Amino acid sequence: MIVDRQGRRFRNLRISLTAACNYACTYCVPDGKRLVAAQDELSAEALVRGVAYLIEAAGIEQLRITGGEPLVSPKLEALLHGVSTLGLRDISLTTNGQLLTKKLPVLLNAGIRRLNVSLDTLDATAFRRIARGGDLATVLDGLEQARAAGIKIKLNMVPLRGQNIDQVLPLLDYCLERGFELRFIELMRMGHLARDGNSFQQQFISMPALLELIGERYEYQQADAPLDATALRYEIPGHGHFGVIANESVPFCRTCSRLRLSSTGWLHGCLSSSNRHYVGDLLEKPRHQALPALQGLLMKALGDKQEVAFSGGVTVMKIIGG
Ligand code: SAM
Repeated sequence: MIVDRQGRRFRNLRISLTAACNYACTYCVPDGKRLVAAQDELSAEALVRGVAYLIEAAGIEQLRITGGEPLVSPKLEALLHGVSTLGLRDISLTTNGQLLTKKLPVLLNAGIRRLNVSLDTLDATAFRRIARGGDLATVLDGLEQARAAGIKIKLNMVPLRGQNIDQVLPLLDYCLERGFELRFIELMRMGHLARDGNSFQQQFISMPALLELIGERYEYQQADAPLDATALRYEIPGHGHFGVIANESVPFCRTCSRLRLSSTGWLHGCLSSSNRHYVGDLLEKPRHQALPALQGLLMKALGDKQEVAFSGGVTVMKIIGG
């Protein structure tokens, strides 16, 4: 097993099924252009092989399928089918929920029982302004259907000053009423925000500011979370839980166990590093040839992790697999 000086190893793999997305969220991309040509992306078969090789070479236990928007990809069904046979402890998916109603049968058939759905506001006008695509009512319908089908849901919200701060409590209430766990993600200095510090500072809301706002309505206490979890979890007694992924306020690099494989075949050991390692060619090779080379690259990827704190990176989240 590959372990670094701080005792960190890769356990959680995120694969970006495609960089394509039906949204163009203002904090994710500067505009809505397609950033990667479809023909440059790996096939579902190559991605499944990649997951299988990484289970063996790095000790991956959990998989999250993300993007881009995974539900827009024609490769979704083949990928889910392939990875479901690999003996992983857990497979989950992150989606904006726009196609959830349509794709729910595919997800259920593949055994998906947990979803993270990104939703930044319950206000239809603000939704259109932030996502620059999609339709709020369609997402809400998808969430109700997934809930009725017994899927466990976490909702991801990125609080942004001047854009959706008024939605923190409505979204929390919405989640508590339905048994969803809301996770606030502190804005990260990724992509264009890494280049434009002003834009980042203007929009950034820190965890202390967020907790103060929540504290005006609810009493909460810290709850247990796995050691390598990125989210700090809180319980609102009698109501439910929420979490905060506080990249800036409480960095979690010391216990990070994440590895990312992009849709174009690059391994990323750290969101905050511009280093990446190409494995697309290795995924075409048989296991005995691919694994030794892969181990060398995994050592490098582990070495890319920050010692303590996340400082951002110029890579766009939808390419690296947010
Ligand atoms: N399309 C899917 C979705 O919307 O969940 C998966 C990909 S999206 C890149 C994954 C997550 O990254 C979303 O929850 C999104 O809000 C988050 N994200 C994108 N850019 C971000 C940034 N600069 N800071 C914090 N979160 C970001």
